[in-house]
Amino acid sequence: MAEDNKIFEDVIAEALSTEHLKVVNALKKPKRDLDLATELGLEDTAVRVILNDLHERKLVRYKRTKNHETGWVTHHWVKREDQLANFSRWYLKSQINKINKYLNYEVNSIRFRCGCNVVSYDDAMSTGFICPACEKNYEEYNNTADVEEKVCELTRLSSLLNQT
Ligand SMILES: [Zn+2]
Repeated sequence: MAEDNKIFEDVIAEALSTEHLKVVNALKKPKRDLDLATELGLEDTAVRVILNDLHERKLVRYKRTKNHETGWVTHHWVKREDQLANFSRWYLKSQINKINKYLNYEVNSIRFRCGCNVVSYDDAMSTGFICPACEKNYEEYNNTADVEEKVCELTRLSSLLNQT
């Protein structure tokens, strides 16, 4: 299971940020946002934004307690260990889908490049093979390197998904 957790941690850092990961890892026990901010050396507001972000993705939950004398409500946040695998699979699958869509389109099409962009044949033709933005000619662009890079990325993500 330790190996699994390493993958989940890598996915959280990649999908969200290393700060999100720090917060998740610090929430093995329930904590208040202010204590969390002090512990991690982060701004209170930054910690709140991250907690809301993680909550939206179901990676943390909170318990509200109300002080009956002061009326103050306190939230104690804790991570949802049970959701790490779900989140990781969702993220990896969505990235894999994106790359597959890109490859389906890219592998069989000719691309054109100007000084500022890479476009399809139709787009290049519609402006007479001159870019309206940078005013350079569109020239045929070899996308083999891009495709190879995406295939590598696809292999990496699929291998991670197989391990979750
Ligand atoms: Zn251009």
